[in-house]
Amino acid sequence: MNYDVIVIGGGPSGLMAAIAAGMNNKKVLLLEKGKKLGQKLAISGGGRCNVTNRLPVDEIVKHIPGNGRFLYSPFTVYNNEDIIAFFEGLGVGLKEEDHGRMFPVSNRAQDVVDALIHELERLGVDVRKETPVAKLLMTEEKIVGVRLQSGDEIQAKAVVVAVGGKAVPQTGSTGDGYPWAERAGHTVTDLYPTEVPLLSNETFIRSKELQGLALRDAEVSVLKKNGKAIITHKMDMLFTHFGLSGPAVLRCSQFVVKEMKKNDGKAVTMRINALPDYNAESAFQLLMKKAKDDPKKALKNAWKGIVPERWLLFLMQQATIDEASTGADLSNELARQLAKEITSFEMKVNGTQPLAKAFVTGGGVSVKEVEPKTMASKKKLGLYFCGEILDIHGYTGGYNITSALVTGHIAGDNAANFSGE
Ligand SMILES: Cc1cc2nc3c(=O)[nH]c(=O)nc-3n(C[C@H](O)[C@H](O)[C@H](O)COP(=O)(O)OP(=O)(O)OC[C@H]3O[C@@H](n4cnc5c(N)ncnc54)[C@H](O)[C@@H]3O)c2cc1C
Repeated sequence: MNYDVIVIGGGPSGLMAAIAAGMNNKKVLLLEKGKKLGQKLAISGGGRCNVTNRLPVDEIVKHIPGNGRFLYSPFTVYNNEDIIAFFEGLGVGLKEEDHGRMFPVSNRAQDVVDALIHELERLGVDVRKETPVAKLLMTEEKIVGVRLQSGDEIQAKAVVVAVGGKAVPQTGSTGDGYPWAERAGHTVTDLYPTEVPLLSNETFIRSKELQGLALRDAEVSVLKKNGKAIITHKMDMLFTHFGLSGPAVLRCSQFVVKEMKKNDGKAVTMRINALPDYNAESAFQLLMKKAKDDPKKALKNAWKGIVPERWLLFLMQQATIDEASTGADLSNELARQLAKEITSFEMKVNGTQPLAKAFVTGGGVSVKEVEPKTMASKKKLGLYFCGEILDIHGYTGGYNITSALVTGHIAGDNAANFSGE
């Protein structure tokens, strides 16, 4: 059977591409290797699906450190506000939460997936699940179709590759598209985990004494060898049994990966300021004031609430301040030491969890070889890319799904136009 457009992959980018192509009244086939469509979408945002983000476009680009600037051009065609209007048109009301994050009012990711599936049905898109694609069929000049793993071949005038990256392969994203892209003449940049927890060999991590401790709105930095910060994020963070996690750490993770690569795999220093509105001097003043206000009180009680208790006790130990000592015992020197620990505690991290456990894949099909206004390959006629297979990666917070939906819409729309030429 012949199609105008084949879309490979039923994640957010592929679903959107198939819908956009279907809206052009084309004969469209969506091929998905899994039993279900939108498996990763259904678990995103903690199962609530962080569909998009309502921050202004400049801010969205800033939150996509992996080639976010490439999206300026696609955003002039289709952007986050279009996504919101699209879902509301499908009957999925969205609500805004902190940092511009948009979720379905129902808090159910499955509602988002179901709405996309109903729209595919309404538009008459053919959908085949449990149908893995083995390769793209192409001539020197253009795409002609796909070969399925079953050996069957299906012809099409245009093919949209929306098979995702390599993160969380249980959802179907197993990196199948990278060799296809290379065979079509594309460059695939190095792949690495992003938005991923960090590993540490520090004794206090190995002893698990801080496991489960969360620091709210801490300032977390990744340091260069010379001690200067490469990046700082002020968000929550978490100590785990293997290292560090939580939003601030996930955002820092790709910078750790890159710095380690630069330094031949050597461990990288992270800095934590649990009291970001203070520096070492103002924190010292605060500690002294609280200690001297009631010099008979045990210091750990006098300083209660400055930072979480487990963190305070740990840092007091680091600063060699006896837990039982009182304000009367406190020297300036020890108070200064503790102020330093609170505002710039340093620790080494020596890796990340693997790509399979990352939220997002770093690297992918080079954006230099894709037309930003159409998502068309610059190497092969009729070939389109969208979603996480591209070398685009954002922080969690709806930025990756936004990128997938926007590039998916544009790829599907342009593949449909191309197929009619
Ligand atoms: C736990 C988790 C939470 C996340 N939370 C957020 C969040 O809050 N905000 C955010 O912006 N991003 C989040 N992300 C990232 C976001 O979900 C992805 O970036 C996004 O799903 C990528 O969309 P995609 O369509 O490109 O690929 P995918 O969603 O990976 O979909 C690709 C599809 O292609 C199919 N496929 C693969 N190979 C083949 C083949 N050979 N033949 C046929 N089909 C194939 C797969 O089965 C899959 O269904 C999260 C990711 C995870 C893992």
